[in-house]
Amino acid sequence: MSDVEAVVEGLMPELVADLKRLAAIPSIAFDGFDHGPVHEAYDLVVGLLRGAGVEQIERLDLPDTSPIITATVPGPPGAPTVLLYAHYDVQPAGDLAAWRTDPFTPTEIDGAIYGRGVADDKSNLIAHLGALRVLGGRPPVTLKIVFEGQEEWGSPLDTYPPDHPELFACDAMVIADMGNIEPGRPTFTTALRGDTELTVSVRTLPEPKHSGEYGGVAPDALIVLIHALATLHDAHGSVAVPGLQDDEWTGTAPIDEDEFRTMIGVEAGTPLFGTGTVADRLWSGPAITVVGMDVPPTAGAVLAVNPYARALINVRVHPRQSAAEAQAAVMDHLRAVTPFGLSLTVEPSDTGDGFEATTSGVAYEAARAALRCAWGSEPIEIGSGGAIPLVSGLHAAVPGAEVLLFGAEDMHPARGCVCVLGSGRPDRHRLSSR
Ligand SMILES: [Zn+2]
Repeated sequence: MSDVEAVVEGLMPELVADLKRLAAIPSIAFDGFDHGPVHEAYDLVVGLLRGAGVEQIERLDLPDTSPIITATVPGPPGAPTVLLYAHYDVQPAGDLAAWRTDPFTPTEIDGAIYGRGVADDKSNLIAHLGALRVLGGRPPVTLKIVFEGQEEWGSPLDTYPPDHPELFACDAMVIADMGNIEPGRPTFTTALRGDTELTVSVRTLPEPKHSGEYGGVAPDALIVLIHALATLHDAHGSVAVPGLQDDEWTGTAPIDEDEFRTMIGVEAGTPLFGTGTVADRLWSGPAITVVGMDVPPTAGAVLAVNPYARALINVRVHPRQSAAEAQAAVMDHLRAVTPFGLSLTVEPSDTGDGFEATTSGVAYEAARAALRCAWGSEPIEIGSGGAIPLVSGLHAAVPGAEVLLFGAEDMHPARGCVCVLGSGRPDRHRLSSR
């Protein structure tokens, strides 16, 4: 065991205790929740940083957001600068009946800690703290720390960095708000798909018309919409809209179709959408999902030809394609389809660009070596379907910096789920270090 490994082993009990203290605070920054605990968590984190030897701690207050902790730990003159990011707020607990343990009483079961935010993202914040303690407050690089308190609720910090690049200037940034594809398998997330929404609607009649008296001739808005939506995918379930970037995934591709079926809880042999590897489809291909429709519900439906129908469409975009460009491609497609000669109204909504990391720099090299040493296995590279707006903002502010996305939010329902985002499901953080 190396010196560093021995120091880490020695520090683990205290770090776990600190993680439990932090995770016991319901630091929910959502509207409608008491924000007192967010400030309590802020105070605790500032105290933990001070205890780890960080002296230059500042507080960044942006409008309508929880305070952001910024800090600097100077390294040797001329040393590179590494920015460490995490967030100290959490999702609400959701349906308490879905929890086996109280969400804000971190509880150890079979080598894992259960509790809201134990994984996302307090484990990663504590991992940064652990690194500071291991280095005794004297890192070989200059460290900049950015711990925010309103990541889960949407924060003005997402768009702040490009206007204040000097605050975030660094050679590499460690965005610790991700996890390993399975416990024990160190994982970099090297690509994030962008996303965009748009609304498509059609009006064919001023009001509903009786289906017996008018059906068969009167144009049905719902049928028109269904025909239009059906053109978004081909016979294999692949996205069929021209102009959407679609490449083969070049990182490791650790999920096969059977594993993916297990992940989403369907039976063996169930057909899946699309062609190519699962990674091609999940991480470097487009996806279009109809996430909502305004149509009459079956209960209480009258026997009438529908005059109006509307759908909300979510588009996941190749990491390197502009989300606005992808949105325009889908809008052009839907405007051109005109089922039965009838036009649709297509309206744009939000867009968020994706991100693709350059993985050939010295920071990646160092991180690979560290993860290989810590976990005893070769790190892999995956993509993620979820956009992280702050990453785009930081990359725009400091385009030359290496961006490393990894962390302790291990995720893989097929092989032991460790972190489940969203309401009603427990987070858990695995204690084992291998
Ligand atoms: Zn998070």
